[in-house]
Amino acid sequence: MSFQTDTIHAGVGPDKVYGAIMTPIYQSSTFVFEDIGKHRGFDYTRSGNPTRKALEDNLCALEGCSSAVAVTTGMAAITSTLSIFHAGDEIICTDDCYGGTSRLMKTVQEHFGIKVHFVNMQVAENILPFVNEQTKAVWVETPSNPLLNLVDIAAVSVLARERGLLTIVDNTFLSPFGQKPFELGADIVVHSTTKYLNGHSDVVGGAVLSNSEDLDKKLKFTVNALGTCAQPFDCWLVLRGIKTLVVRMREHERNALAVAQFLEQHPRVKRVFYPGLVNHPQHELAKKQQKSFGGMVSFELDGALEDVNRVLMGTKLFALAESLGGVESLIEHPASMSHASMDKEHREAAGITDTIIRLSVGIEDGDDLVADLQRALG
Ligand SMILES: *Cc1c(COP(=O)(O)O)cnc(C)c1O
Repeated sequence: MSFQTDTIHAGVGPDKVYGAIMTPIYQSSTFVFEDIGKHRGFDYTRSGNPTRKALEDNLCALEGCSSAVAVTTGMAAITSTLSIFHAGDEIICTDDCYGGTSRLMKTVQEHFGIKVHFVNMQVAENILPFVNEQTKAVWVETPSNPLLNLVDIAAVSVLARERGLLTIVDNTFLSPFGQKPFELGADIVVHSTTKYLNGHSDVVGGAVLSNSEDLDKKLKFTVNALGTCAQPFDCWLVLRGIKTLVVRMREHERNALAVAQFLEQHPRVKRVFYPGLVNHPQHELAKKQQKSFGGMVSFELDGALEDVNRVLMGTKLFALAESLGGVESLIEHPASMSHASMDKEHREAAGITDTIIRLSVGIEDGDDLVADLQRALG
């Protein structure tokens, strides 16, 4: 089946009891055994739940892999994945990753002795000087947050595989509609389903996906052992959100391109970061690797912090808020909001200056969005 058909039907069959067309919410902690040692596939919701399974089967079909585990948040997906490593292991991570990811990586390093190297991977070979006997994985986030830098997943995964390392990709920014990391050589994909997959800013959720028997087993075991699994109602919301993923992503991209082109010619804007612009330094890679340029646009304002604040407070449609990927447009200041959890030194090294503004472009009317920014920029 095509991707678009799968968003609606994969993993979801009419309910066997009453024929409900929508997957019921099995809000039950435990399931009655039919006989000693015999149940109907589920015994306890931490270990498995029919609503969660529908979402997991759906996500598997969309990413094109053999296993998915739905967890409580994107950070739970990252925590669960990092839990397969041991003290003494080393990981190489994209330097301008999500703020929460860099914070967690540093915590894991301090508390559990897993060493993390933050590396600019825009040139895949940059990882090589950091590979040694202890290295176990390369953690890729592309496009990056908030600067929309790209990493060539196929190039990194070839280098990683040759050295026996896993390639792990955080695919939150594009969703499987916009990028298919397993086709490019990834071993594990993590998601914050809070963002585009759910798309309606009404749930936090995450998922870990894998494509080998060994990793599938390890990750399922870890999520059950840690207890990071997603709740049935949250799974139901994400599953409902995914049904409109394709139509939403098309509109997000259309509006983001219009906004990026508008900002590009605005005299108060120094630089625009959007992989869909022809002058984005990695536009060719975006065309090759991605199926969509996505809905995230960042820009650097020509001015001081007061000017940044005026723009942040000046929009009416773009709401001042963290998060991304919902139908409504958001504006935020990475240095003091989404990336405040990344220390200043790390932030500056990654190029996230105080005058960068990030937009999550929603699916309102594109002309209204451009007019809103025009007003706020003055
Ligand atoms: C939001 C986000 C996360 C964390 O997800 P939560 O659902 O907020 O825990 C991880 N990675 C990326 C790229 C994100 O945007």
